[in-house]
Amino acid sequence: MKHFYTLSFLFSFFIAASQNLPAPAEFLGYELGSQFTRHSQVVDYFEEISEKSAMVQLHQYGQTNERRPLIYATISSEENIQNIEKIRQNHLNNVSNTDSSTDKAIVWLSYNVHGNEASSTEAAMKTLYTLITQKQDWLKNTIVIIDPCINPDGRDRYVNWYNQVKAAPYNVDPAAAEHHEPWPGGRPNHYLFDLNRDWAWATQVETQARLKAYNAWMPHIHVDFHEQYINDPYYFAPAAEPFHEIITPFQRDFQTRIGKNNAKYFDQNGWLYFTGERFDLLYPSYGDTYPTYMGAIGMTYEQAGHGMAGLGIQTNEAAILTLKDRLEHHFTTGISTVEVASQNSDELSANFRKYFETADSRYKSYALSGNADRLQKLTELLDRHEITYSYKNSGKLSGYNYLQAGNQSGNFEKNTLVVSTNQPKGKMVKVLFEPQTKLTDSVTYDITAWSLPYAYGLNTTASTSTIQAGENANFGKISNTVNPSGVGYLSKWNSMNDAAFLAALLQQEIKVRFSETTFSSQNEQFEPGSLVILKSDNMNLPNFDEKVVSIANEHKRKLTNAATGFSTSGPDFGSSSISILNPQKVALLKGDGVSSLNFGEIWYYFEQDLQYPVTPVDTDYFSSVDLDEFDVLIMPSGRYRSLLNESNLEKISSFVKKGGNLIVLEDAIAAFEGKEGFGITKNEQAKKDSTKVELIPYAQRERESIKDMITGSIIRTKIDNTHPLAFGYPDTYFSLKLTSDSYSFLKNGNNVGVIQQPEVVSGFAGSNAIKNLKNSLVFGEQPMGRGSIIYLVDNPLFRAFWENGKLFFANAVFFTNKTGYSYN
Ligand SMILES: [Zn+2]
Repeated sequence: MKHFYTLSFLFSFFIAASQNLPAPAEFLGYELGSQFTRHSQVVDYFEEISEKSAMVQLHQYGQTNERRPLIYATISSEENIQNIEKIRQNHLNNVSNTDSSTDKAIVWLSYNVHGNEASSTEAAMKTLYTLITQKQDWLKNTIVIIDPCINPDGRDRYVNWYNQVKAAPYNVDPAAAEHHEPWPGGRPNHYLFDLNRDWAWATQVETQARLKAYNAWMPHIHVDFHEQYINDPYYFAPAAEPFHEIITPFQRDFQTRIGKNNAKYFDQNGWLYFTGERFDLLYPSYGDTYPTYMGAIGMTYEQAGHGMAGLGIQTNEAAILTLKDRLEHHFTTGISTVEVASQNSDELSANFRKYFETADSRYKSYALSGNADRLQKLTELLDRHEITYSYKNSGKLSGYNYLQAGNQSGNFEKNTLVVSTNQPKGKMVKVLFEPQTKLTDSVTYDITAWSLPYAYGLNTTASTSTIQAGENANFGKISNTVNPSGVGYLSKWNSMNDAAFLAALLQQEIKVRFSETTFSSQNEQFEPGSLVILKSDNMNLPNFDEKVVSIANEHKRKLTNAATGFSTSGPDFGSSSISILNPQKVALLKGDGVSSLNFGEIWYYFEQDLQYPVTPVDTDYFSSVDLDEFDVLIMPSGRYRSLLNESNLEKISSFVKKGGNLIVLEDAIAAFEGKEGFGITKNEQAKKDSTKVELIPYAQRERESIKDMITGSIIRTKIDNTHPLAFGYPDTYFSLKLTSDSYSFLKNGNNVGVIQQPEVVSGFAGSNAIKNLKNSLVFGEQPMGRGSIIYLVDNPLFRAFWENGKLFFANAVFFTNKTGYSYN
């Protein structure tokens, strides 16, 4: 990897000649489309070209979880490449509204975000070669940035699998094994996250690295290349409704102009395509919407193909769809897009500048206060988007209050975080923070609510006037010291940082207690969930004090030194209400039937958020696994009908009865519905009430069906925070509801999170679906024998971005299984 340039580093040498540039086939030793190219070979090709051509610079901008390089190439005329840093700076001046000289068009082409949509990376190589050999004229006023593969881990998962199973020559029969990818498929990244849902939340390393590069360039046009099912024709812009209201008429119009240019080439070749029907521009975390909200013309291009297609497959139209065709189509739209950009660089540039002139939004500032850890977590996200913020400590505050869902006045709390739309990224601020996204249409591809104040559980006021902030925040210094004469240390329980601290203590074999009720020690109050770390529990541990203090400092946790176990009020430390936490050995189901996304979210949660070991167990050999080894068994969302035969169901029941803790999420709950002892039943009251058949015209069926749908909306949820599952939470939680599934209250269990009268605070929920949520369960605990079952009807770990849900999961793992597993 020696030939990469860093972003700030200009070229130190160039081989002047652009002769002897190898075409992809020449370099790879096979025609493009006749094989899938491994990621390392793609990198080698880009490296070779960048060494031999003065028109190409290569940058490594990051590394994947599996240590593959993330790269992009900057492609333009020799002259532009020599001035590339100046061109970039000039262009960025448009974002910050400082005066700028003429601008080049900047087109960013992103390939293969979904690893098994593998034709696009092949097209990237052809596009690179063609630009510098045949389209040099366009490059005089255009910079093209090519990221040949956003998701190298996913791509190689697909390509390596395909190469193992493919027939020689390839087999076009859809029944052939080479058209049936095994679980989890190549689409997601290492942690099985969909990178095309992660742009705004930036939870994954690929996204975090890419955003740095993206923000350093802020292109005029961004194309995200995809593939869809084998029988669909090609899709390109214009996109479908709903469009987010901040999208400008110019952005919409320019999409159409690019679409028409693409169409010209498709018509010439007799290739079919469709536009404007399916892919909407609302959810901000896609590779088309995110760039759009950052001022670009953001587009998705979809080719028929996908993990099913292989090198060739028979389609319904009795045609053979080949990799050669697929890459040719993506190559054509890529080149066509660069052509349009080059022809309209001045217009692109002028309108791009205009986009950043005004934010023009109803709310001008957002004031957020609350838990310091979650506030800081939010600022980390804002930093990734280069959104600026400041703090304010006092004064009068009024506006729309998220918790009350209405207007309210009060005073600024100390360390209130203020984020205003009056900044270059002001439109993105509006998209991410406003309480309700305006929906022009409710048939959409994804969730309709994501407002960050709800996701981070912060007390938020949206103000229609700009709040003058700019004060210093003071979150207090953490510097714990050893207290050898005391009985131990106390620590509060409010955030994921507290949970990660506990996880670290347990892994150092430190015995920890937690309080189930409020107590005061030395007149300081500790709420339920607070950790009590006692010397008497850890007599055999050398350097106990030093260890605890050092782990606390590392995790930035404030310890209270306890001089005595005699509480000022509430239970003393020897009380049964302050009991020992058992380190939990956790099994997590994966494999056929399990939602790969939900498995990935939980896997990521344990390894990256909590940093606590988890043992993935495949459904393939679940029947032979000895559950006695584990304290917790997690069943991610999924379809378990075939797994839960009589003997496996008995195995799970017996695990719980003996003291095990079973955590069941979302769709997995359906597998236990109506099963004896599991206590869970569907809530279908509202459906029973509406038995009358309505006559609906066929053409309106899609519209009508959305009445039963919830596509990701935020619903007020009542929390019983006296139950360990909800320690650290207030009595209200805003849950992101992703489906219309509704379960009744547990009759003999604990209903910890519930919806009584449904109140949708943000997003779309169909009228029938809302009715059906009345008196429904969100989070609950069903005791069974010595153990318990935790039902999480809503997924608190969704895409790892619902920060405020994460502590529920730690509570479920550590606090609800007090008895521990008994070996009998
Ligand atoms: Zn895709």
